[in-house]
Amino acid sequence: ADPSGPAGSDDRGKPLYLNASVPTNLRVRDLLGRMTLEEKVGQMVQIRVGKLRGDCDYANGPLNNDCMKAVLTDAHVGSILSGGGDYPVQNTPQAWAEMTNGIQRYALEHNRLRIPVIYGADGVHGHNNLVTATMFPQQIGIGATWDTALAKKLGESTSKAMRATGVFWDFAPVSDIARDTRWGRYYETLSEDPQLAGTLAGSIVQGMQSYDGKGDTARLAATVKHFAGYSMPLNGHDRSPSQIPLRELQDVFLPAYQGQIDAGVLTAMADSGAINGVPVHASKFMLTTELRQRMGFTGVTVSDWQDMQYLVDRYHVAADYPTAIAMSVNAGVDMSMEPSNAAVFTKALVDDVHKGLVSGQRIDEAVSRVLKLKFDLGLFEKPYVDANKADAAVNGADRDLARQAATESAVLLRNDNKTLPLSTGVHKLVLAGDAADNPSEQFGGWTVNWQGIDPKGPVPPITTLLQGVKEAVPSATVTAAADQAGMVAQAADADAVIVALGEKAGAEGNNDNENPVLTAAQQSLVDAARATGKPVVVVLMTGRPLVLGSVADAPTLLQGWLPGTEGGHALADILFGRANPSGKLPVSWPKTVGDQPMSYDQLPGANGGDSSKYDPQFPFGAGLSYTTFTTSAPTVTKQIRADGKITVQVTVANTGGTAGSAVVPVYVHQPVSPVLVPDQRLAGFARVDLKPGEQRTVSVTFPASQLALTTGDVNGDGKREVARGGYEVVVGGQRAPFTIG
Ligand code: BGC
Repeated sequence: ADPSGPAGSDDRGKPLYLNASVPTNLRVRDLLGRMTLEEKVGQMVQIRVGKLRGDCDYANGPLNNDCMKAVLTDAHVGSILSGGGDYPVQNTPQAWAEMTNGIQRYALEHNRLRIPVIYGADGVHGHNNLVTATMFPQQIGIGATWDTALAKKLGESTSKAMRATGVFWDFAPVSDIARDTRWGRYYETLSEDPQLAGTLAGSIVQGMQSYDGKGDTARLAATVKHFAGYSMPLNGHDRSPSQIPLRELQDVFLPAYQGQIDAGVLTAMADSGAINGVPVHASKFMLTTELRQRMGFTGVTVSDWQDMQYLVDRYHVAADYPTAIAMSVNAGVDMSMEPSNAAVFTKALVDDVHKGLVSGQRIDEAVSRVLKLKFDLGLFEKPYVDANKADAAVNGADRDLARQAATESAVLLRNDNKTLPLSTGVHKLVLAGDAADNPSEQFGGWTVNWQGIDPKGPVPPITTLLQGVKEAVPSATVTAAADQAGMVAQAADADAVIVALGEKAGAEGNNDNENPVLTAAQQSLVDAARATGKPVVVVLMTGRPLVLGSVADAPTLLQGWLPGTEGGHALADILFGRANPSGKLPVSWPKTVGDQPMSYDQLPGANGGDSSKYDPQFPFGAGLSYTTFTTSAPTVTKQIRADGKITVQVTVANTGGTAGSAVVPVYVHQPVSPVLVPDQRLAGFARVDLKPGEQRTVSVTFPASQLALTTGDVNGDGKREVARGGYEVVVGGQRAPFTIG
């Protein structure tokens, strides 16, 4: 029998918590009852893997038993992560799996209660931590697909690769909404619109968490992050404070996270930033009232990187570290990501409990959530993975899916002279521009390394645009121009010039851009290409809609985002008409830097009325096709109650000569509202594949509660209500009225 325990055991003397057939809540209670306070607070800590390796404070080197003893045994730490800038050097999936197995084995063999460790990492576009993995497009590209089925498949694939290497917690997907192109994490978002972002993020979570645990490995937990409002730092710089009025917070920002919560996301990560003068890591309103009580999240909330310490060091809202920890735990954070010293953290939290700053009940609540997560994932039963299977599960996996995703994500913004699709009968093509043959720009940040691939390090498998074009037209001459003069000279006898422009890979604050504009050199390259008189196709591989300058009136413009491993194939498929572009902008394209922050759902103003000042380069939802579609007038449920659901139907027809996919956004217009509302709000959407001449009726259903607005005067009173009265759905510019009564 276990010496600590008042706890139960089964008829063979095995502790209840180790019996998988016992209901989880009883297993949790049984295990909790056996734990000392020190063991409990250890479960509230997540430490970077570098602290287990080499000299205990370095990301590289082999696992070191002394380091593991300090963290896993002495401090009882329950979770390990590979964070940004902390990737282990072993780049084979097998080596990674052996590493996680090694950590797990140490933890299980050197703790009396044998509680497995949960390992977390950022798999934000595939298992991007591994050089042999297939890199999917970054999230902003997934937003442009408006394809929930695809998003789910990407989640499944990422989960499979991560689980194969012993990673059971993915700090993804991001639900923050894109509002300001200066912000370095813009490309990690799905959309500026809360419904589009939330729905796609929910689909990714469904995919990531869909595996039922019946196979070789435990299940995987996804993360809703960064809760909440992280994407709108007032000055555009990552982690600088936000000012978001309660009304905007509740009606615009928070709904974006609801899709993941409704999909059953198992963990949440708190926003590193501060809102309205309160760091989110110290906000009970954000992390408990909103996240849990109103939005219904029931899982584990983890801090972001060292954020409890930052309450002292950066935000100065706590005089010392123990006070900061108490503030954050009491606000609702269950686990501290990478406190710089596990022993210091756990001692401080234990002291907080002894001093009455944190209640024993709050500790039990947090630890119960962590244990429940580990039980739910099946980690007690399947703590290890078969390292011999890891390479096969990861290397080169799902490249077709990556190609599909990159193809669907590309947005054809302009094709004035019908230059596209290019004929495969071309004799000579010239490629120019920084992104034409540039793995680093094509992948973006969070690829092998935090800031993107190291130009001197190993490069993941990739087809660059240059390679993709060469493969697509094997009998043509395809030259890559080294510079502008070379491009002009080579263009003389070419059929067309393709200019591919990108931006330097980066992540987080390092990727902020105070002047998010195509550079003068990039603009000049396009100008020079156009001056040759040859057909010019501009392909952009950027993580944000950069202000275009002189490129704004380029007649042929294709936005490829950060398309990843298969980007070259996918873009070439579109350039030569093997694929029909179907991506639609998930964000508004600014004309000038001064447009920031920008989104289509701006509020009406006194100067010029309604939304007349929304004047983007290309609007939210823009994107051309090689075929044409018509959309019938919508039909809508005429009369619903505030707790009811609205169903909209339209018939979409492909009236052109090419198969293609149509995206059907359904907006709601509210002619009279108690407070300002945007002219149109996206309520739902559908995506439909149609052969030439084919038509289909699509149905979009959304709850009336989605139209709720925060009530009260200028500060908002925190309550949300659906206004009774007349509304209209707007689909393809056609309207149909309905009433909420
Ligand atoms: C980022 C998170 C990430 C974490 C772990 C932080 O710096 O803000 O998004 O999940 O690092 O890598």
